Amino acid sequence: MKAVLMNGFGGTEVLSLGNTSDPVIDEQDLLVRVRATALNRADLLQRRGMYPPPKGASEILGLEMAGVVVKVGNGVQGWKVGDRVCSLLPGGGYAELVSIPAGMAMRIPENLSFEEGAAIPEVFLTAYLNLFWLGNLHANQKVLVHAGASGVGTAAIQLIREAGAGSWVTAGSQEKIERCLELGAVSGWNYHNGSFLPWIREETKQEGVDIIFDFIGEPYFVDNLKSLAMDGRLIIIGTMGGAKVGELNLSQVLSRRLQIIGTALRSRSPEDKIRLTKEFADFALPRFSDGRMRPIIDTVFDWEDVAKAHAYMESNANVGKIILRVNE
Ligand code: NAP
Repeated sequence: MKAVLMNGFGGTEVLSLGNTSDPVIDEQDLLVRVRATALNRADLLQRRGMYPPPKGASEILGLEMAGVVVKVGNGVQGWKVGDRVCSLLPGGGYAELVSIPAGMAMRIPENLSFEEGAAIPEVFLTAYLNLFWLGNLHANQKVLVHAGASGVGTAAIQLIREAGAGSWVTAGSQEKIERCLELGAVSGWNYHNGSFLPWIREETKQEGVDIIFDFIGEPYFVDNLKSLAMDGRLIIIGTMGGAKVGELNLSQVLSRRLQIIGTALRSRSPEDKIRLTKEFADFALPRFSDGRMRPIIDTVFDWEDVAKAHAYMESNANVGKIILRVNE
């Protein structure tokens, strides 16, 4: 099969299309002809040699895909050749073919394209896992979503809205904030105007928020703790602004009974991912089908232009997902 291969680690110049061996499938697997895959920040780190794939996973980049089932394992029930599916992957999505455990396949609703299907798994499953399983999100709660216009942010805003809760977002431009408001965010703060702390305090009448969804890390850490209400949960899903926190007063963590939760979807067990996929699919697929939720796509690139797509993600310009169309 064809796949995007890496000639060593480094900048976008290490990426090019080449030939490699087809994946094999086990009894419980599906072989899928990939029609679209999507970029994730992890791909940029992996390309630079800073994020090796988990043991046993493909060395090929790509944490999600959408495509058509071309072969069904002997032990699989409920799927047939020709079904349109999308799925999370431990790696290997930038390729013509992938093998996935049948339990991780989600049926792409008829009203969605392959590009839209490929925009769902990573960001929506990450947001679902962290908001509902780890954050214990309930109706009427308040959630602060940093970088609300990101792929993960745009998924989180929609899930929070569907849970009957409210989201407040930060972002780097008024245009990005407007997009978040369209998706259901209550209010937004442009972080170029200073710390979000006075704004979120005023917005919550000094009470603070129940959950913070953050991948900026160090620059926001202290103000994040100050922005949480009693029993608040800070969920850290990345450290794009820095990982090492200097001075920290832990007394507020005790006095306000705060929880600081770190999370990584990729390293979870296949059993966990199958359970998560099933629960998410039950919640979300009807909502994608009738339009209550939608995958948010910024740009679709042909996979020959994978280097341009990576450079575009590095520019921080996107609102929602960057997709690679995998041509026949
Ligand atoms: P994305 O769509 O590429 O968006 C990232 C956005 O973050 C940028 O567009 C930029 O928007 C903002 N940003 C970047 N650096 C910043 C900084 N120093 N300070 C403030 N804002 C900054 O990203 P994504 O695909 O949603 O992924 C977001 C993060 O989640 C990544 O770190 C990724 O690795 C992580 N992630 C973690 C897991 C997990 O399981 N732990 C799973 C999936 C993703 P502005 O213009 O608003 O600044």
